[in-house]
Amino acid sequence: MIKQYGWSDALAKAFEPHARAGHAPGRIVAQHRDGYQVATDEGELRAKASGRLMHAAEEAEHPAVGDWVALSLNPTQGATLHAILPRRTAFVRRAADSVQTLQVIAANIDVAFVVTSLNADLNPRRIERYLAAAWQSGARPVVVLTKSDLADDPQGQVDAIAALAAGCPVLTVSARQGQGLAALLAQVAPGETCVLIGSSGVGKSTLVNAFLGEERMATQAIRETDDQGRHTTSHRQLVLLPSGGLILDTPGIREVGLIDAEEGLGVVFDDIEHLIRTCKFNDCGHVKEPGCAVRGALDSGALDPARWAHFQKLGAELAAVQSKAERLANDAERRRLAGLQKTYRATKRNARSGD
Ligand code: GDP
Ligand code: ZN
Repeated sequence: MIKQYGWSDALAKAFEPHARAGHAPGRIVAQHRDGYQVATDEGELRAKASGRLMHAAEEAEHPAVGDWVALSLNPTQGATLHAILPRRTAFVRRAADSVQTLQVIAANIDVAFVVTSLNADLNPRRIERYLAAAWQSGARPVVVLTKSDLADDPQGQVDAIAALAAGCPVLTVSARQGQGLAALLAQVAPGETCVLIGSSGVGKSTLVNAFLGEERMATQAIRETDDQGRHTTSHRQLVLLPSGGLILDTPGIREVGLIDAEEGLGVVFDDIEHLIRTCKFNDCGHVKEPGCAVRGALDSGALDPARWAHFQKLGAELAAVQSKAERLANDAERRRLAGLQKTYRATKRNARSGD
């Protein structure tokens, strides 16, 4: 069963110590005020985090929807989450009450659909912000232009956005006409998890419903009994797609914004950041410098070469998005100044002709 949720050989390997401790693997499919809903090989169950996990020093170390966890199944006390497996990717945001605190709002996302609508004004800055948030999380961004049925000539917008989002697929879709849905779903392989991010009104809920078809009601509602014995209905936030793959949908992830600099990467790759800080030279290139902690960890097998390659690739892509954003900001500033100059000249001309 957990195979459908994306369980892999790499996860099984990371899980070995927990298996030896007698724990079972599971993936968090929903977070409630008083606990978590976890998909396991024994079916879905409610679990609470262990005191140690809940009191972890960093809020980013608390369990989040999408996390793979190690849990104990105690028939009398209910299930307990003991550990979180290393996250491949994570969307983080700053806690509302503190700029210091980062919270994970979705873990282990493979594909981030950056959604914007073809009938809205093209807002390059906004798309860039969402793209950067996607890159920072570690997920693959795919740009989705919705409501193609309302656009007369979408090609201009498609081209403009493709230039902005160099390297990521740009797909158009009409949920209303059922056009383009299959191509979107083809971006999410079986076992992979996607999210939809983008401004309100662009058509995200409509797309989720179209993805899930009629199965939404059947799969979404979880009937459960709260501590007082009342029946409550809550929603699963991580849902299997009929086409294979999964979608994670929470209000938090939809509104994910851009956090500063490389912090998103820092949360997912804090072990690598730690290694980098312990290199002998501050400007170590991690190639063959003496005292390079990264090389050391690669050589000893403590650092997975694929993980290191992924980190390097994301860093480069993030830097590219950022420098492009800066360049566009400069362009906009130049255009603004040119516009001002034109207005100024016109005013002078008018003043003169009025003489
Ligand atoms: P969200 O806020 O991003 O979740 O957006 P919604 O899914 O609620 O959609 C906002 C509005 O756009 C609704 O009135 C939808 O009916 C409409 N809408 C969504 N997809 C399409 C589409 O493909 N074509 C057209 N014409 N309207 C759409
Ligand atoms: Zn180094």
